[in-house]
Amino acid sequence: MNSWFGHRPRLFIRTYGCQQNVADSECIRGLLEYCGCESVQSEQDADLILFNTCAVRGHAEDRVIGNIGNLKAIKSEKPKTIIAVGGCMVHQEQVAKDVFDHFRYVDIIFNTNNLEEIPSTILQRIQSKKRVFKPVCSEYTLNEKVPVSRDNQACRAFLPIMYGCDNFCSYCIVPYVRGRERSRKPEVIINEFRSCVEDSFKDIMLLGQNVNSYGKGLKCETGFPELLEQLNDVPGDFWIRFMSSNPNDATLQLFDTIAKCSKVARHMHLAVQSGSNRILKLMNRHYTVEEYLSILDYAHAVVPDFYFTSDIIVGFPGETEQDFEATVELIKRAKFYSIFSFIYSKRAGTRAAEMPDDTPHKLKADRLNYLNEIQRQITEELELKLIGTRQKALCLGEMPDGRYEYRISNNAEVTVDMKGTKNEFYTIEINDYKNRRLYGKGVK
Ligand code: SF4
Repeated sequence: MNSWFGHRPRLFIRTYGCQQNVADSECIRGLLEYCGCESVQSEQDADLILFNTCAVRGHAEDRVIGNIGNLKAIKSEKPKTIIAVGGCMVHQEQVAKDVFDHFRYVDIIFNTNNLEEIPSTILQRIQSKKRVFKPVCSEYTLNEKVPVSRDNQACRAFLPIMYGCDNFCSYCIVPYVRGRERSRKPEVIINEFRSCVEDSFKDIMLLGQNVNSYGKGLKCETGFPELLEQLNDVPGDFWIRFMSSNPNDATLQLFDTIAKCSKVARHMHLAVQSGSNRILKLMNRHYTVEEYLSILDYAHAVVPDFYFTSDIIVGFPGETEQDFEATVELIKRAKFYSIFSFIYSKRAGTRAAEMPDDTPHKLKADRLNYLNEIQRQITEELELKLIGTRQKALCLGEMPDGRYEYRISNNAEVTVDMKGTKNEFYTIEINDYKNRRLYGKGVK
């Protein structure tokens, strides 16, 4: 690559979407830095520009298209610049073709389900002097041999434990763009986990589209609870977190394990999506509201001070006022710490995309605003209950106003008048809540 650019290639990666994409981009950066590239902070300074895209909702794709449009000027200014677009959005062949045909200055379309192929794909572009169209990869791998270049300024390390999803929720594009579930070997994960701890990470997030089904297909008997126990035994002071969880595989054994593993953070993101059993059926979610709530009840019974967050889709095709009211009742009952709530986004190729949907967008937006207001009140109620409590807290660094930000076990962030060292644990006492923000003081 050096000969093509006449100097050490300068690399810029723009990442869209979920934490799994962030982790993939850290692998891509690791791989290309290993091949001699140096990372830069902007497209303007780069010779190699990679976009790692997302397809989970329509507006995520719109943003990518807009940003690709902005690269035209850079390409005409520096024609040797190589522009590559990869990730979930272009794993959809028709979308990949549209991008490749419309943006003639995009050199490469690549697939992130086999990251090891990326350096050779870039060399193919350079040596053949032809654009490369690779929306589909030869095989779905586990990226085991790929070096990872983590952002050691970050106060969290991302560690993929599995890839893909077999659930085929009717609205979701992920199984079509990320492939079938495949788990990394426990010993490989534990080694990488140890190196994160050695690199002074104190907050390590295990990643997968459905971490609770970790281990399916592995020869060994290590499921997700067993993996958590083994990671909990790794020497050091740190928090183990994990995302994303599907209620289908959230076993009672998992919460029994969390109860005895003190290093597992007291927070879980457990997407429910709707409070209506009729809609859950149409979503192909395979659990009922009652079953979901019984998981929460069990977790709260066996793990003190455990907090849940969740995802809610409003305006799924055919959603009635009654369905929506059931969702409102669910969040009142579940008392989530917070929710990620969205208006349903039609994804071509999914089963839900074929379902009739005549609910006006305005009504969906009104429902979303109403739901968010209910949730805001619940979050406030839970945050007010934290006042007066002492918490183990991770220093995230100094804020622009000179105070310091800390993260606590339930994933909340607190503003504290205590100077701290980034990535170190402290004890704080939460003493106030204003404007949706928690405040605290240091405890010696
Ligand atoms: S479990 Fe999650 S990633 Fe898998 S299909 Fe359902 S929503 Fe998509």
